Amino acid sequence: MENGIAPQWLDERFNARSDFDEKNIHETLSDRFQSWRIKTIIDVIEHTSVSSPWYKARLNRGRVKTVTAQLTELLNQKSRDSSNVNWAISEILNALPSPSAADVAADSEAFLAVGHGDIEGVVSVPSSGTSGPAKRLCSTALDMEETVRFFEYGMRFMVGPGRDDRVALAMSQTRPGNVADLLGRAMERLGVSFEAFGFMPEGTEEDEWVWNLAEWRPTCLVGVPPQMLSLARHRLGRTVAETVRTVLLSGDVASNLMVGQLRENFGAEIFRHYGLTETGLGGAVECGQHLWPHLRDDLLVEILDGTGRPVTAPDDFGEIAFTTLTREAMPLIRYRTGDEGRLLAAPCPCGSMLPRLETIGRMDDHLILNDGRKLRTPDFEKPLLPLTFVRGYNLHLSGDNLLIAIKPGPGLPPDGPGLIQKKVAEWLGPSAGLIISVSIATPTANETSTRITGKRRLLRS
Ligand SMILES: [Zn+2]
Repeated sequence: MENGIAPQWLDERFNARSDFDEKNIHETLSDRFQSWRIKTIIDVIEHTSVSSPWYKARLNRGRVKTVTAQLTELLNQKSRDSSNVNWAISEILNALPSPSAADVAADSEAFLAVGHGDIEGVVSVPSSGTSGPAKRLCSTALDMEETVRFFEYGMRFMVGPGRDDRVALAMSQTRPGNVADLLGRAMERLGVSFEAFGFMPEGTEEDEWVWNLAEWRPTCLVGVPPQMLSLARHRLGRTVAETVRTVLLSGDVASNLMVGQLRENFGAEIFRHYGLTETGLGGAVECGQHLWPHLRDDLLVEILDGTGRPVTAPDDFGEIAFTTLTREAMPLIRYRTGDEGRLLAAPCPCGSMLPRLETIGRMDDHLILNDGRKLRTPDFEKPLLPLTFVRGYNLHLSGDNLLIAIKPGPGLPPDGPGLIQKKVAEWLGPSAGLIISVSIATPTANETSTRITGKRRLLRS
């Protein structure tokens, strides 16, 4: 940090692109970025419509020509309104098909735009909430390099060389091409120590996992928000917190309430990340202003309404869809994520040119109350987070019966379930029309060996 102004690392990442050959000194970085994006989208559409079987089957030459001509017109507009470029692009792209996770799961091969010999990394992702086939997401060496560079720049908000930083990943164990592999490579370039501990287990293996983590003395933790809360409220949580200066949350929605709670528990600066395997694992990361993550430069995000059209106002919530601008193995155009969020129209006080993305949860992870209110699983943090003996929860809905399964922490009082039931019922109010019950979940021995990603769920039966 110089003169009190923190460098905008993600803008720096764009500025350092070596394939950017038209550096016009009269153009601002933001103008260059907008032009680069539009040019790159044109290339992506032209290439993907012939090389990716899924898009090829749905895109005829005529439609590709119309869309690319409209984008070229936008590119050549002299007085382009930079605040509206995203929306203008989205209006044009609306003519293109928009695949969902189910399409990728049904036939991952159909999205492959390179030969098998070019694939360097494969990550399998089980379809969320279904027992359907897993998505198989492939990367080329260049795809992985783009993500490593995103991590290398984005992590500088949290760690830096010469500070004796130690990054502990509380998610996957290292496998070729996965998040632990790519984040580890980025930390090596930054000269920062890195260790992948895997997801925090439940049950009998938990104590040993927390002990090993505490002994390693991390200064930066990367983990799933509910698991980080569970860690903070573990009996050894304070020992871990002693060395931790920054926490990066990823893999599940992190509400402002959760961020505030973790900031208090760890006594650390909390950052949010949004990314999917489909985006190349990295996607968007928060700057030091903590006002939702900035998107990486090679990811174009659109917000779509219930009919699949771009939302009408820039700040409206809708389904997050993205187009990858540099991915070779599996380029995706207008991929519907099933996640709900919005693009924040106002510029971030940090001065970055990169748009910010606010996320609120899965599109299908909600319940509608009798009085019409819509509640998402993370909304239940409001009554549950202040109860310090609650380390986590899941929701089970069956008709009007809502069972809250609580993962208990130290200090659970004998009347804990009754107290939780009362707090949630008060918060919901009598018009909710739900019958609340509470169970204290004790993980069984066979649960401890399964990989638990820590994402909260609303289960229906
Ligand atoms: Zn910012």
